[in-house]
Amino acid sequence: MANVADTKLYDILGVPPGVSDNELKKAYRKLAKEYHPDKNPNAGDKFKEISFAYEVLSNPEKRELYDRYGEQGLREGSGGSGGMDDIFSHIFGGGLFGFMGNQSRSRNGRRRGEDMMHPLKVSLEDLYNGKTTKLQLSKNVLCSSCNGQGGKSGAVQKCAACRGRGMRIMIRQLAPGMVQQMQSVCSDCNGEGEVINEKDRCKKCEGKKVIKEVKILEVHVDKGMKHGQRITFTGEADQAPGVEPGDIVLLLQEKEHEMFQRDGNDLHMTHKIGLVEALCGFQFTFKHLDARQIVVKYPPGKVIEPGSVRVVRGEGMPQYRNPFEKGDLYIKFDVQFPENNWISPEKLTELEDLLPSRPEVPNIISEAEEVDLQEFDTTRGSSGGQRREAYNDSSDEESGHHGPGVQCAHQ
Ligand SMILES: [Zn+2]
Ligand SMILES: [Zn+2]
Repeated sequence: MANVADTKLYDILGVPPGVSDNELKKAYRKLAKEYHPDKNPNAGDKFKEISFAYEVLSNPEKRELYDRYGEQGLREGSGGSGGMDDIFSHIFGGGLFGFMGNQSRSRNGRRRGEDMMHPLKVSLEDLYNGKTTKLQLSKNVLCSSCNGQGGKSGAVQKCAACRGRGMRIMIRQLAPGMVQQMQSVCSDCNGEGEVINEKDRCKKCEGKKVIKEVKILEVHVDKGMKHGQRITFTGEADQAPGVEPGDIVLLLQEKEHEMFQRDGNDLHMTHKIGLVEALCGFQFTFKHLDARQIVVKYPPGKVIEPGSVRVVRGEGMPQYRNPFEKGDLYIKFDVQFPENNWISPEKLTELEDLLPSRPEVPNIISEAEEVDLQEFDTTRGSSGGQRREAYNDSSDEESGHHGPGVQCAHQ
């Protein structure tokens, strides 16, 4: 019967195009009950679709736009530029068609306010131990003196310009025979659909319907939470009349730690040891994120190669919601070698006797060219005049070719 451009929204509600308002409402109620998130928590998307479809089809203007031009008609009809974003997301909500961000549809199909996102900086200690903190914020709440009406009951008049819809439809001729329908926010009532005479306005909120209130939220940062994780306070965002408040969302921002780097539930740290420790065993202590003193021992006879990594099982971060299980702690060893000329040549000979023997001395033929092996700072790039000069100023001219390495090689 009805000749419509697109039936998707009707299909969602399981009704034919041209359905009566009554039948539409019945179908919606039945489905909404069935897919309500309280009963059916996994059907959130389905529920959003149902709410969205009903929202559009129960509104005569939107339904007409949709019948005539389909989804496209809804998109274009909502404008999409200059202050229309709110209406636009109002119409599309839920990312149903995959082009709008997060949900603006509420459980009961009411328009939903925006979520308020706040970053929350937390230390690695906080994420290890858990923490409860208080967050003070200022938000809009419905004025209690006028119950969010903006004035005495009866003072609120339906806006005549838009007949209370908050939007006006304009028809624009693009070319002969081609018209475009556009919805725009009513300028008389700023899209609210109602106006209040100045003298009847609520004194407390000056007719704004909402007032600022300071709210203190208690935030529980649980053990094992991660950078980027969200803590949501449902419905705690700004209130506005006829709008279901959005959520306050805290976005955890992990601060850098001077000792540990985190990788999921694992921790990484670097520890400096000397050559003697690398060869002869060691023990050292450090303070963990929960202030425990940890002793790390490595027995004599086991060798730590420079840059090598050892692991301590179970000393990483606690798992979120399972904090008795912990990740691992990886310790990378930075082996500090002694300075040049740290020992007399005689002692060095003695040391060489103790060390594992060197490979056989290569056979050097007479025309072989001997080259200089110079010190080089890898942190300063590959080559460059300045660095070379700096080098020439110091060790090259003084100790030059007479370092201990050379003596050893020719003994
Ligand atoms: Zn008020
Ligand atoms: Zn109006």
